[in-house]
Amino acid sequence: MHKLAVFTTIALLCHMAMGQDMTKVKQVVGDLSSKAFYGRGYINKGDSLAADYIAHALKQQRIKPLEKSYFQHFKMDINRYIGTPVLKIDGKTLKNGIDWVPYPSSPSVHGKYPLVWITKKDLTHKKALTRLLNQDLKSSFITFDTSVTNNKELYWFARNLFTTQPLLVKGVVDRVKSPKFSARRYLSDYITLRVRREFLSPEVNEIEVELENEFLRDYTSQNVMGFIKGKTDTCITLIGHYDHMGMFGEAMYPGANDNASGDAMILELGKYFKKHKPYYSIQLIFFGAEEAGFYGSEYYVAHPVYPLEKTKLVINFDMVASGTKWTELIHAQLYPAIEKAFVNINDRKNYIEHLKPTGYEATSDHINFHDKGIPALFFWTAGGNEFYHEPGDLADTINYPSFEGIYNLVCEFIETYR
Ligand SMILES: [Zn+2]
Repeated sequence: MHKLAVFTTIALLCHMAMGQDMTKVKQVVGDLSSKAFYGRGYINKGDSLAADYIAHALKQQRIKPLEKSYFQHFKMDINRYIGTPVLKIDGKTLKNGIDWVPYPSSPSVHGKYPLVWITKKDLTHKKALTRLLNQDLKSSFITFDTSVTNNKELYWFARNLFTTQPLLVKGVVDRVKSPKFSARRYLSDYITLRVRREFLSPEVNEIEVELENEFLRDYTSQNVMGFIKGKTDTCITLIGHYDHMGMFGEAMYPGANDNASGDAMILELGKYFKKHKPYYSIQLIFFGAEEAGFYGSEYYVAHPVYPLEKTKLVINFDMVASGTKWTELIHAQLYPAIEKAFVNINDRKNYIEHLKPTGYEATSDHINFHDKGIPALFFWTAGGNEFYHEPGDLADTINYPSFEGIYNLVCEFIETYR
């Protein structure tokens, strides 16, 4: 046989054995993190556009919904920002999303405000404290210098003191390495700004801010679901969220790793089990509103479409396209038999280089199933993607070091675990 033909045959066999299609995975991640979905949040119905895309992908893979529709709709309140926000520090305009963001429950604010620096001395020396408490800070922003922020208990005491009546300030400025955005379903009575720390120094004493929020009541979002009938009614549910932060002004949050990667993983696993009828039935759920406090999954467990009693195990995929440091299998230590099964397969096949089973962590949608008494695991990768909840979480910045490993490990686990 010609050398090239041998190589092609071997490459083809390897591809067939592993099954997953990385070209397709990258296409799904690229699509969902593109401008067409507005960051899959609450600007221009980005969340619903992404949900439609996923339902369409399921349909193309001939994966049917369990009931009539792929969607489970729910209503929630959600805070968003409209117009073009502006933050100026000493006349210098900061870049929205890159240099600053509001904490996502912050209300609107317009105008120029004094910025008051609070030090440990201000809080612990009687004279300095008297001076501070005699200032009227109701129309000021405050920030704490490192002598306070390095002391967690003092920081939280002071922060809570100045954000509660009667001392409630206009706002707090958090000086951060990189501003991370999120989404919230409630509104605070003061403003928190997360500002890149190099823009702030004790010499700064005034900030100018234009921020317009819109608090949407009873906003309709949705979960997307598919179902693959196995040889038994007992079900393994594969979950991951599709929502992200949307936009802040002109800044879009692509959420390629978080969590277009998890959506692509579930679609690929669905494709495999559609072709290879599994022993357990497989439910696929793509949750909305995870970034807004795991709300899609909270709604689902209160209104399950498939009986929770028949759900044997839940596996969550959230941020699975990085992993140069390690791949955590969160909650595995809570279920020794399941942990052992995963570790044994991985030891034998070496699918994932740094697989790290860990304990309890309430950091994503799996927690709502765990709270209902259902074993729930969570695959999460670390290292190789520094842009968490930032506009830099782009499709071309991630390189999938353990994506195929996770896919193979989960396929083999589901096929062999009884
Ligand atoms: Zn996430």
